[in-house]
Amino acid sequence: MSDSKFQEIGRILREHRRFAILGHVRPDGDALGSQLALALSLQVLGKEVRVWNEDGMLEKYSFLPRAQLLTKPPQPAEDFDVAIALDTAIQNRLGTALPAVRSAKIWINIDHHLSNPGYGDVAYIDSSAPATAEIIFRLIKSENLPFNRDIAENLYAAISTDTGSFQYPKTSAHTFEIAAELIRTGIDVGRLSQLLYEDYPRRRLELLRELLRVMRFRRDGRVASFGLSLKTADELGVLPEDNEGLIDHLRAVHGVIVAVFFEELSDGKVRVSMRSKTEVVDVCAICQKFGGGGHALAAGARISGTLPEVEEKVLAEVCARIESLGSNTVLK
Ligand code: AMP
Ligand code: MN
Ligand code: MN
Repeated sequence: MSDSKFQEIGRILREHRRFAILGHVRPDGDALGSQLALALSLQVLGKEVRVWNEDGMLEKYSFLPRAQLLTKPPQPAEDFDVAIALDTAIQNRLGTALPAVRSAKIWINIDHHLSNPGYGDVAYIDSSAPATAEIIFRLIKSENLPFNRDIAENLYAAISTDTGSFQYPKTSAHTFEIAAELIRTGIDVGRLSQLLYEDYPRRRLELLRELLRVMRFRRDGRVASFGLSLKTADELGVLPEDNEGLIDHLRAVHGVIVAVFFEELSDGKVRVSMRSKTEVVDVCAICQKFGGGGHALAAGARISGTLPEVEEKVLAEVCARIESLGSNTVLK
């Protein structure tokens, strides 16, 4: 992607005063960390910033520097010079943060999702980036925007979580170079990693126990899935954020190509999370058939219907895709 796009965004950031920085519903570390990092940089520039997300700051990420800046969108809606959507594949994934912006002269869209159609007045989409935070880092550096340790810590947390701790395929030498530069600001990597990965509530493990009890394998173990009903979630007392990443246990099983997690939501829909181990099976394409999107190896959708209905419909599509590979297809 050209530097001229960064120059255009840099100019817009410098020339305006009031900013809304938004991220997707059910935020993850990349959305939250990217939002906070960009907001902190703009604050140092003297800008007025609002940092909104439908769900507000999650308890599990509340240790991020200046986490309290990030809130649920208030009522009534507000007017801005510039609204910036981060890490958000389609605009309606901004949820209630979208109508909270009554007006904005310019909409900027910065993201790394393959399926992002490039909505907004200025879009910077780089699907080769392993995290939106990597693009934010490059923007800050190339436009010489304010940078400090708090910003670095938010970016590090975002990149670490979206790369599965620097393991997923899009993790590059450049990602490690960025990480090195972030760490040089004085980040305590051990402490931060512990807060990110080794500090979860006991109920998360109790949820995992339940999911492992109901997990199923299909098509010679190449498709793995589990589902969570509202009733079970309620009985276990789990929060939505508790299930982030549990699907990785399914994907990690030898022979599994596609892993699927189904979560019943209170609005009559089911949230589907899908992971693939190979680009040969593009789960973004499968999820797009159901109105969702994401990346080739990690995608999702929200589908109307009961948990069993959605499970059947989606697994039929996944199994058909796996069958089309032929029975000899095994992972290298
Ligand atoms: P998740 O399984 O929720 O971790 O999401 C995996 C990837 O797919 C993330 O990059 C999401 O942003 C994207 N994604 C999840 N759900 C949707 C959806 N309903 N529409 C578009 N993209 C989605
Ligand atoms: Mn995200
Ligand atoms: Mn991301």
